[in-house]
Amino acid sequence: MKKGFVYIVGAGPGNPDLITVKGRRCVRQADVILHDRLIHPGVLGEARPKAVLVDAGKRFGHEDQQQAEIHNLMIKYAREGNIVCRLKGGDPFIFGRGGEEVAVLKAAGVPYEVVPGVSSFTAAPAAAGIPLTHRDYTHGFLVITGSRSAGFETPEWRAARDLLKSGGTVVVLMGLARLGAISASLKGSGCDPKTPAAIVARATWPDEQIRFGTIDSIHEDAAGLASPAILVLGNVIAFRMES
Ligand code: SAH
Repeated sequence: MKKGFVYIVGAGPGNPDLITVKGRRCVRQADVILHDRLIHPGVLGEARPKAVLVDAGKRFGHEDQQQAEIHNLMIKYAREGNIVCRLKGGDPFIFGRGGEEVAVLKAAGVPYEVVPGVSSFTAAPAAAGIPLTHRDYTHGFLVITGSRSAGFETPEWRAARDLLKSGGTVVVLMGLARLGAISASLKGSGCDPKTPAAIVARATWPDEQIRFGTIDSIHEDAAGLASPAILVLGNVIAFRMES
């Protein structure tokens, strides 16, 4: 019997040229592609004509229910002997529940491999010409979620505030809907309202948009932007390369 296998593949931030060579090879080889929402048609177009494409981001129901269904489908298709490509935005292990998917495959005894991808946390600042580190100004950065499920009194947000106060760089994913609350929380806990801020929406897609401002202004600056978007905070934004 043909033995099934699951590749958990990062598709990159959007532009189809930003999937890795290995990732593209997995897409081309797959019998079944279980993909997230927002995977560029140029990537999916690499699939074999006979491949089954399942849009896992389009299913109804609660997010956890949807995730459970993705787990079941991966296992089902692999047990039927298929090469499954689980195609996820950015890098599979950055805020993508990739860890859970691996745990489930492991428990089910399904062989798998993780193929890393270009994460939006690096692609979006790069698109805006912002160096996340700069030898003369900042020697590290912190990536954090701004999503509703994470409060501001977590160790990560405390560390983010400390880093910003000392001039460091913070990258916030999933923060667009909560920009006002993020700014207010930073200002309320002693961060300089004039700290530079940038929002990059739909980075590397044809309709990418970039807005610059400060912690104080970024909520207004971002008016009208569409998801997905990344917020970058820190003095390093002042050293951005004009393109
Ligand atoms: N695994 C993904 C992140 C998934 S969480 C990765 O590594 O990129 C989803 C969040 O990623 C979005 O809310 C947004 O903050 C960010 N994101 C993903 N693609 C993006 C893009 N093209 N431009 C800007 N932000 C993006």
